[in-house]
Amino acid sequence: MASIADNLLTVRQRIGAACVAAGRAPSSVRLLAVSKTYGAQEVLAAHSAGQCAFGENYIQEGIEKITALSPQVFTPPLFPALDWHCIGPIQSNKTKGVAQHFDWVQSLDRLKIAQRLNEQRPPHLPPLQVCIQVNVDGGANKSGVEPQHALELALALQELPALKLRGLMCIPEPADFAQTLEVMGQAKVLFDQLNAYSHNGKSLGLDTLSMGMTADLEAAIQAGSTMVRVGTAIFGKR
Ligand SMILES: *Cc1c(COP(=O)(O)O)cnc(C)c1O
Repeated sequence: MASIADNLLTVRQRIGAACVAAGRAPSSVRLLAVSKTYGAQEVLAAHSAGQCAFGENYIQEGIEKITALSPQVFTPPLFPALDWHCIGPIQSNKTKGVAQHFDWVQSLDRLKIAQRLNEQRPPHLPPLQVCIQVNVDGGANKSGVEPQHALELALALQELPALKLRGLMCIPEPADFAQTLEVMGQAKVLFDQLNAYSHNGKSLGLDTLSMGMTADLEAAIQAGSTMVRVGTAIFGKR
């Protein structure tokens, strides 16, 4: 069986090859290792292989791992430090734990949740880095704002000092390469539109377009993704 270190190498090679195919610099795509359902041991194995950014879907499970591996609990402290991204749905009663423990929230799609995160972010921590989740392909039961409401939410987030808007995240329905490329291309157009918007000389300055998973990272990179979120290809089947 391939180790987590082997798998990471393979995933980085896939990212590199996709960047070359798209005429992009390999350093223009970051890798988020999605460790949901796996434990602190697997996160440590990935960290030993040079991976620092991890994504969690389930808040409670994520907080347990974050705490177990935090400098307050885990010695000697991990270096470089871990960077934790919340990529799952957030209910109102879970915002406090997210604000206290995570570095990023990629699954933001409601102002009310953003306002709670802003109030509950401890003052000694840097701003919570956030992405707006966009429902690009219009899946009926899916999280994410509709594309036409993304700018409105982005502007509202500018008023919340404990949050720093970094970009957009999307999770298209599984589809073939061409369809995935088209949907992700729409996300890229929206991303560029938001970045072209300016008010009183101030623009949003977004640097993160988070899209692409194990099955579709090549299409995502071709469409302009700057961060792929990969679980299965690194840690194995869930
Ligand atoms: C689980 C998950 C991933 C990783 O999916 P894989 O197919 O295992 O790579 C990425 N993003 C989100 C939002 C997820 O829930």
